[in-house]
Amino acid sequence: MPRSFVREARRRGIGTRRERIGPIVERLAEEHRDAEIALRFRSDLELLVSVMLSAQTTDTNVNRVTERLFEKYRGPEDYLAVPEEELQRDIYATGFFRQKTKAIRGTMQALLEHFDGQVPRRLEQLVTLPGVARKTANVVAAELGHAQGIVVDTHVRRLSQRLGLTREELPVKIERDLQKIVPRADWARFPHLLIWHGRRVCDARNPLCEICVLANLCPSSRVALVSQRVRA
Ligand code: SF4
Repeated sequence: MPRSFVREARRRGIGTRRERIGPIVERLAEEHRDAEIALRFRSDLELLVSVMLSAQTTDTNVNRVTERLFEKYRGPEDYLAVPEEELQRDIYATGFFRQKTKAIRGTMQALLEHFDGQVPRRLEQLVTLPGVARKTANVVAAELGHAQGIVVDTHVRRLSQRLGLTREELPVKIERDLQKIVPRADWARFPHLLIWHGRRVCDARNPLCEICVLANLCPSSRVALVSQRVRA
């Protein structure tokens, strides 16, 4: 169980989750104006494939692979027209290439059979595609302008816990907690803001609380704790 920063927030008197969420979003939006998805794509299908390839690897790596991939594979049928081994070779550098090939081909088949070759918008439809779990579906739906949930990756999980927005460990439970307090209009951009803040400031091992714009809203801020001790 992680240390509960929800209780720590109460102890420090910095406000409830609901009171803090507005300023947290505002400050992060101001701080990370460029926060957006790092994957490169030109269509709904390319978005879906990129997100599927991004499991267990970096966005930079995916972009490197998809630059060529998307010149060769334009529509769902293209992924089915080549032998499995050829697609495996083409996505090899993203890792887990066998599972990813299977998932991509299964998804392309399903798109052609059930969705007229188009990427569906609804979360419940997206998760019926082979190899498309809730996180992937959430990313795709949000980027298509139809956010129906909140993406929870490793940064979102860590920051939500540190900021005392959740006590939970499981992504699905963290998402439920966030959905209760984050305004629906911010569901798409909120994960990007936490991800960029996690990369630039709130590192897993070495959070830079001294320069963090959330320091006085964060129950795990080392700065706030030190100044509290000094005052005491
Ligand atoms: S104050 Fe520190 S722990 Fe809290 S969000 Fe900022 S960097 Fe992370």
